[in-house]
Amino acid sequence: MTPFLIRRLFVFAALLALVSPAHAEPTEWEIIKYKEVEHVTAESVKRFYRFESMERLESQLFFRQGTNMLMTWVVGSDSIRINSIKFSLSYPVIEHQGRVLVSRLDLQKLLDPVLRPSYIKNIKPFDTVILDAGHGGHDSGARSSRGSEKDYALDTVQRLSVELQQLGYKVRMIRSADSFVGLSERVDAANKIDAAIFVSVHFNSGPNKNADGIETFALAPAGGSSDFDGSVTVTSFSGNNRDGENIALATAVHAMVMQGASGMTDRGVKRARYNVLRGINKPAILVEGGFMSNAADALKVDSVEYRAALAKGIAQGIRNFNRATGAPLPEAKTEADQKPDQAPDAASAK
Ligand SMILES: [Zn+2]
Repeated sequence: MTPFLIRRLFVFAALLALVSPAHAEPTEWEIIKYKEVEHVTAESVKRFYRFESMERLESQLFFRQGTNMLMTWVVGSDSIRINSIKFSLSYPVIEHQGRVLVSRLDLQKLLDPVLRPSYIKNIKPFDTVILDAGHGGHDSGARSSRGSEKDYALDTVQRLSVELQQLGYKVRMIRSADSFVGLSERVDAANKIDAAIFVSVHFNSGPNKNADGIETFALAPAGGSSDFDGSVTVTSFSGNNRDGENIALATAVHAMVMQGASGMTDRGVKRARYNVLRGINKPAILVEGGFMSNAADALKVDSVEYRAALAKGIAQGIRNFNRATGAPLPEAKTEADQKPDQAPDAASAK
């Protein structure tokens, strides 16, 4: 195996904790228009990404690569799975004239950046993570009988800040106290910071008390639907300039968060056009770390252990994203660096 290939396998494995197709095969894409939307055939996806097999079992289609990589499509479904991770599609998987199809938009905006993140165009290196704790001040966000979303979000990003600094990243907080910051102010503040990515942390709530679990959002691509309200918008926002990085970051973070959050329901990697994701000029995601309106989730969210695990998962996911895209990694702090600050005279004597 060439060093190049070894590196590629390593970066893929780091992203999804699996071995993905080593490289893509030049192929003729079979493009089929269905209801005015361009689709590609399952056959050409199999060929291009060099899946070893593609098996059909009733409405399900299994793409396999070795023993570690399994992608599952279900005809009629608006989500797919790549190993354990569930992804919302912009258009459902369909069957048309005997062939299974996925939209070209999902190929470009989901499959490609997730299956081969090192091919994402114009990736910019980053050394800073902007942490956005949802809500604050008079805006409590969702509430349970135990506490408020704004406080849990702030506590989680404070823990995340410590984790990230240990990994060598610089951290900037949109709010570091219980204060109100408007959505456009958040975006404006973030957009002034260079060489950075943006991570917003929230906790969910909904009218259905049974709804539970963790979901991670990336900005919906132009022309794709939003999982938040089902709307389709053809407008491209500035956040869409980073579509490839957005979905790769969401994937890497969601994978590590789910790995560390035992017992939580996996709601998958989703799409929405939230204000903080739309106007941002850097890779950005929004993590919903559990439902305040669900008794079991609310109990977990209230525990320090859970929030610490959530923070750790997000930090590891950020590092995996960094590694998978091939951008340089910061130098993790050594133990000596983590000791309490030295007296000024000791520091200057170095
Ligand atoms: Zn919220």
